[in-house]
Amino acid sequence: MDSKPDLNIGFIGAGNMAFGITKGILCSGEVQPRKVMVSAPSSNNLGRFQELGVAVTHSNTEVVTASRLVFLAVKPHLIPRVLAEIAPSVTREHVIISVAAGVTIATLEELLPPESVVLRLMPNLPCMVQEGALLFSLGSRAGPQEGAVLKALLAPCGLVEEGPEVWIDTHTGLSGSGVAFGAGRLLRDSGRHPAQLRSDVCTPGGTTIYGLHALELGGLRAAAMGAVEAATERAREMG
Ligand code: NAD
Repeated sequence: MDSKPDLNIGFIGAGNMAFGITKGILCSGEVQPRKVMVSAPSSNNLGRFQELGVAVTHSNTEVVTASRLVFLAVKPHLIPRVLAEIAPSVTREHVIISVAAGVTIATLEELLPPESVVLRLMPNLPCMVQEGALLFSLGSRAGPQEGAVLKALLAPCGLVEEGPEVWIDTHTGLSGSGVAFGAGRLLRDSGRHPAQLRSDVCTPGGTTIYGLHALELGGLRAAAMGAVEAATERAREMG
């Protein structure tokens, strides 16, 4: 596999993370939108990809057949169902990259044909403003070449590093979920309301909502409001 790839790239799942990565990789101009295809069962999620010039479909197997690099970007609980669906179309030429939180390489490899090349990636939403922090791990049949291809492809998304899989969960808590706890540039450049941005990062019952729960228990929001109020009050006293 060439490390300056001109490969077709597919996304299964047309949600926030697939959109963030797509925007990130297209912004460099090195990847043409026509090289990218995205699938989702509902048309609702596909419009913003069409606006980027990316091909869209409702068929996950069409994405696999048309692409060499396939990102799995559905919610973690859907991974077994999606892999059962696409497994017959996956060949040893494909590179499968999962962004699903909490789904291990061992699970992915078990659910795919024996020769499949798998990588696990933990990205975060600031990819869409080129400020992402991305960590990936190689599956047992992935080599340095696949790592180099992924790194080159994702370079416009932000900082991309390879590391052992044991680091991925920490990275999920720190960078994947961390966006919900504070992300200035993304907030400024995306034009999203802070509550919308926070919701984009949260899966019900997922990692981020657990982190937010801890912040709420610690009273962070009330403490921040209290701090502004106290400082305002003090300013009035002094004025
Ligand atoms: P999302 O709900 O925004 O998107 C999920 C997409 O999957 C939707 O477009 C939905 O229509 C589609 N989908 C549902 N069933 C499908 C099926 N059977 N086949 C194909 N597509 C299907 O979710 P998201 O926030 O983009 O998260 C996607 C994955 O990315 C998750 O596994 C999550 O752990 C991971 N992730 C998300 C973030 C983040 O900040 N959002 C960060 C790191 C990792």
